[in-house]
Amino acid sequence: MDWPSQEYDAPLDRAHAHVRAWLGTLADRPVPPQADIDELVAALGPELPEAPTPAVEVVDHLAAVADAGLTAMPSGRFFGFVIGGTLPAALAADWLVSAWDQNSGLRRLTPAHSALEDVAAAWLRDLLGLPAGSAVGFVTGGTMANFTCLAAARDEVLRRAGWPVAERGLTGAPRLRVLVGAERHDTVDLALRYLGLGAPEVVAADDQGRLRPDALAAALDVGPDGPTIVCLQAGNVHSGAFDPFAEAIEIAHRHGAWVHVDGAFGLWAAASPTTRPLLGGYDGADSWATDAHKTLNVPYDCGIAVVRDRAALRAAMGMHAAYLIADDAGDPLDTVPELSRRARAVPVWAALRSLGRSGTTELVDRFCRHARTFADGLTAMDGVQVLNDVVFTQVCATFGDDARTRRVVEGMLADGTAWMTGSRWRGRDVLRISVSNWSTSEDDVERSLAAVRRVLAGV
Ligand SMILES: *Cc1c(COP(=O)(O)O)cnc(C)c1O
Repeated sequence: MDWPSQEYDAPLDRAHAHVRAWLGTLADRPVPPQADIDELVAALGPELPEAPTPAVEVVDHLAAVADAGLTAMPSGRFFGFVIGGTLPAALAADWLVSAWDQNSGLRRLTPAHSALEDVAAAWLRDLLGLPAGSAVGFVTGGTMANFTCLAAARDEVLRRAGWPVAERGLTGAPRLRVLVGAERHDTVDLALRYLGLGAPEVVAADDQGRLRPDALAAALDVGPDGPTIVCLQAGNVHSGAFDPFAEAIEIAHRHGAWVHVDGAFGLWAAASPTTRPLLGGYDGADSWATDAHKTLNVPYDCGIAVVRDRAALRAAMGMHAAYLIADDAGDPLDTVPELSRRARAVPVWAALRSLGRSGTTELVDRFCRHARTFADGLTAMDGVQVLNDVVFTQVCATFGDDARTRRVVEGMLADGTAWMTGSRWRGRDVLRISVSNWSTSEDDVERSLAAVRRVLAGV
């Protein structure tokens, strides 16, 4: 056998060709998938082969079979959930990450990754307006970013109460109160479950889903101040709304609480002078979670945990083993739950380097502009009501009664031009739109609105 790199040439060439073909279909392929799982399993061949298969054949078979079962999530007309596409620089950088195959837990093991992570972390703190000294951890997504920040929060507030969780665990610990807004993201509850903290206390929200500071104050005024965490939200998945940070943080801190902000997509409002005021006072919090695979448009998966108190994060996440070459200044592994991990900071660095400050601002502004175009276009249709104040990237519309709205939701999926799915918000069925893809153009928005008009005419 020759130099083994030749073993990679043909499969990588094939993968490159398949990727270009896939990206080439995005402008016009139906957004929903065209095959179901049973068909795909049958086409893949469910039996484990006895003998090896050449890598080229594996790649060709994979691409040929998967195609019909792929949802065009990177399409400019995917408006479901909060997804985000992939910037060209970020996708290409992510390929390098796979090829370089660096285990990125230790600084001294991979200086290239550590340098990129340091630079990306500094750029993120700058663009997101977060304290210069904060620790930044690159995790798999918003859920794990919430988990990571809340682990630091849990340990720190209990430590202040004289209870070192790392040694003693939670059994017999002082009561720890966790307060969340009524419309926090469900993953906050999930993170609290992982942390052994159980269900949080729920604070009332207003008509846009924003936590009500008066309700927070009333809840905190009950009982003595003990270990407490308050979770706020930047970017409600239905309305896009932002909690009133300045007021809520002032109240929480007066009671000695740690304040965490879930800003999976909304924290990016900080990157534009137009939307930063929506976040007023957010930088007074103690930790912030966000995603890079949403608004920043890096490929899956990348979430970001930012913690003001570096020592608190390191105390919660750090580990030591004799065989690891640790750096006294702290290692990437001290900021995340994992030991071994992918070089997630690299696509983030590439996305930010390709956008620059102005491009990042423009990206956020463009999402907001498209969301407003959607809201205006929908409002102009007969019997359609936009339920939320469109302050950011999210739009929720109703089409009369719940049954009619559901028919529109189903009609949109059957039509296939755009992906917008349903939800329930404020007691009503809604069609939800989330604008989060860099490649969404005015034309994509117009084509999608035309699809809604077409579907509406048929229900
Ligand atoms: C998407 C989202 C999350 C969860 O993020 P994942 O990356 O899916 O784990 C948490 N909070 C909010 C507000 C979100 O929009």
